[in-house]
Amino acid sequence: MRFGSSDKSQNCRLVQGALCEFKNCSTLKCQEVRSDIYSYFRMDRMTDNTGKQSGRRSFLKTTAITGACTVAGAVAVNAASPCLLPEEMVFEPNNSYWAKVLPPVNSPLQQDIEADVAVVGGGFTGLSAAYYLKKDGAIRGRVVLLEAARCGNGASGRNGAMMLTSTADRYMQWGGGPGLDKRIYDLTAENIRKLKELSGTLRIDAEIEQQGALQVCNTTEDAEKAREYVKKARAANFPCEFWEKERVVEALGTLAYEGAYFDPNSGQVHPGKLVGLFKAAAESVGVEIFEQTAALHVEEGERLALTTSNGRTVRARSLVLATNAYSSKLGFLRRAVTPVFDYVGITAPLTDETLSALGWKSRVPFNDCRTEVYYLGLTRDNRIHIGGGPVDYVFNNGVRQPANVEVHYQRLLAELNHIFPTLGTESFEVRWSGSVDMSLDETPGLGWMGKHGNIFYAIGFSGHGVNLTSVFGRILADLIRGRSVDWRWLPYLNRLPPYTPNEPFRWLGVQFALGYYQFTDPTKP
Ligand SMILES: Cc1cc2nc3c(=O)[nH]c(=O)nc-3n(C[C@H](O)[C@H](O)[C@H](O)COP(=O)(O)OP(=O)(O)OC[C@H]3O[C@@H](n4cnc5c(N)ncnc54)[C@H](O)[C@@H]3O)c2cc1C
Repeated sequence: MRFGSSDKSQNCRLVQGALCEFKNCSTLKCQEVRSDIYSYFRMDRMTDNTGKQSGRRSFLKTTAITGACTVAGAVAVNAASPCLLPEEMVFEPNNSYWAKVLPPVNSPLQQDIEADVAVVGGGFTGLSAAYYLKKDGAIRGRVVLLEAARCGNGASGRNGAMMLTSTADRYMQWGGGPGLDKRIYDLTAENIRKLKELSGTLRIDAEIEQQGALQVCNTTEDAEKAREYVKKARAANFPCEFWEKERVVEALGTLAYEGAYFDPNSGQVHPGKLVGLFKAAAESVGVEIFEQTAALHVEEGERLALTTSNGRTVRARSLVLATNAYSSKLGFLRRAVTPVFDYVGITAPLTDETLSALGWKSRVPFNDCRTEVYYLGLTRDNRIHIGGGPVDYVFNNGVRQPANVEVHYQRLLAELNHIFPTLGTESFEVRWSGSVDMSLDETPGLGWMGKHGNIFYAIGFSGHGVNLTSVFGRILADLIRGRSVDWRWLPYLNRLPPYTPNEPFRWLGVQFALGYYQFTDPTKP
């Protein structure tokens, strides 16, 4: 039968792939075609031109097989990805403003060492864990700390200086019941007081100022949420307050916000000096710190063996992984966090006239309510620092700063001039970036792992670790001393953040999330 020609019936004009235009045409061919088309759309039994039976069942079967193959392929790619794509272990120098006062660098490890505890990472987590391990003779044996570059080279020496209570997943939001949230709040507020005491005892001024911090509301909806939160939080004995717009204007001198959540126990610090305080504290109790010494490989065992970049080995009964965003380079905790780049800029000192015209009378640091949060602070010598905004992710957990980051600093300048229009800042004196260990749900985790249960970790601070790291450092010391029972109540104990897949799914997921955040940013023009 040739399509496009007329059939037996005078009225039937059956054209290729279509029904005759006469609905009720009764020629045999027309009836066949009509029935084929109907059954195709009903996914009914149909005979294809090879004579094979196909239809709904075979369609479902094909779909199921294709789906299963896709899932199996994705699982295989996900599992093979870390072997196929080894991560680069790189420690770029810290060029931040805070780094100017980091303590002098210790010499690298030059002999093999037998230790009781080896700590890898010289940021707040590693230094505080080492300090609490040796403090008051808690551990009699050797505690050795290895730092790949210099103490404070990672996030601890590059952050936005906000010293906050609580955790990223519980700050101005409920994480569990109010009772548990309050207990975590008290623990972290108390830690800031302890650090002030330590600073006093060692006579090292880390510029810890516990004068409170604000979370400012970008929209009236944010303000409404904050008002509601504060109402419930005060009923649960949190000392927080809601500040109406007028009070925010009075305290910060900006009209940019619709209200704010005020936490009187938070504050700020000079991060470089805090690194110095922890390093001095750790060395004062006998911790041995080796810098420019990267741990390259960990061999598990009842005594662990760490191979280092200088060819020396450290053997220890326990290991503390305080490697934050770099952890996956050592083959640990890849699933728990994704390193994302965040950017900060700091101005030259403002003159007294500029500062008083600005009206930031309270000097209280603040961060806004956006998912890709902006945060600001004022140093003792009247420099303004601003950080945050859209972050970057470099494929395969990259910790080498991406090229073309100028756009981030321009965005920070624009945000600063939007908040304080009279400032007219044209450039920053110093600008820098750092990697944040983001977990999928912003929760941190700490505990122990490994075949022998002797690898201790703390991870997932998600941009909220300036204070929390040393709370966890103290807890890690307790866990190593066998005092885990004291911390059973803590919901982060022996918990890892939700699973994050490997490449290329991680990269795709992050790109999607970042696009979504920007699309849904309520303040976008
Ligand atoms: C730009 C930025 C702004 C931030 N702002 C704030 C803020 O305002 N408030 C807040 O609460 N939090 C903030 N954070 C988060 C906070 O700084 C971190 O949570 C905290 O400093 C993490 O400390 P850490 O010791 O766990 O990690 P890090 O300070 O990153 O220390 C890890 C150290 O381990 C070393 N290391 C890694 N691998 C190895 C290895 N194999 N061998 C030897 N050494 C190794 C690294 O060199 C590094 O020094 C910010 C972070 C960034 C990046």
